[in-house]
Amino acid sequence: MANSKAMLILSVFAMALTGCKVTATDSYHHPDSDDFISGLFFDARDTGRHFPTSSWSLTSATEACRNESLYFETDSSRVRVYGSPAYSETSFRAAASELERRIDGVLSRFQLRWPDFVEDRSAAAPYPRQVIGCLSPNVPSSEFVSASMTAVAFNPYYGQWPYETSQIVSHELAHFVQENLSRYDSSYTLLPYWFAEGQAVVVAGEPIAPAYQHFDYDPLRDVTTDDAARTPYRFEHYGLAYRYLEKANGALAMTVLLEMAQLLDWDGGFYGEISTGESRAFVEAFNSASLVDHRNNYLSFQRFRSDYHDLLNSSY
Ligand SMILES: [Zn+2]
Repeated sequence: MANSKAMLILSVFAMALTGCKVTATDSYHHPDSDDFISGLFFDARDTGRHFPTSSWSLTSATEACRNESLYFETDSSRVRVYGSPAYSETSFRAAASELERRIDGVLSRFQLRWPDFVEDRSAAAPYPRQVIGCLSPNVPSSEFVSASMTAVAFNPYYGQWPYETSQIVSHELAHFVQENLSRYDSSYTLLPYWFAEGQAVVVAGEPIAPAYQHFDYDPLRDVTTDDAARTPYRFEHYGLAYRYLEKANGALAMTVLLEMAQLLDWDGGFYGEISTGESRAFVEAFNSASLVDHRNNYLSFQRFRSDYHDLLNSSY
């Protein structure tokens, strides 16, 4: 791991993650505001720390903060939340507190500590030493938070946050971390949709389909959001497929896989997709990462894809 990390002082660019699972209910939570992590408000016109503006790094949700100079920074200076002064101080503090509280737990699922993450993601990422948040009116009303590589966007109205806030934030932070680890300068994600969602489901501790139900869905066919059937339970199967790999290989191997994809993206020569739609960088990384099946036999990406149900069938 140390070797692969040393090779990976790489930079990173933007993307949007769409189609995330959202399980918001009508019940809202309002933790005591005394609970918020302390920090201070700043104006980027004074500090020079403006919200990232390059178009590649923004999604429709995070674009909203492009012209906002007000931000709240936690005392650790790891977390900065930008937004309009029209939003309540509480909304800034709540978003910053969620990011600050969840990031270490999420990183630990990737077998990383904060300094490892700062080192392994790119120095060219906007603010590589920060997790950037944005209070955004463009977060779809069906979601309350959505992650991109550059920033995590929040519904700006704290009163509308759902009861499951912490789980949803963990899920989105998992996307934020995995994208920051797996890309160098690709303008789109290199991860198959099932892998990205499956890992986020597992990291956030969301429900996973029982292994004996594996025949109910073909998660590995969902290479992009467009491939996915509109069944809500598909996320449990993305989680099942991802967890199979993680169980056989360990969480650290999954992080190495992500970092290898970043290295291949940086190296170049692995552009485009294979015939089944997955990025060449991801497939090459998968096949180079010495992954094994549950019987400890070498597992190529092609075998995992073609023999998925046989493998799951014999794994329980
Ligand atoms: Zn998601």
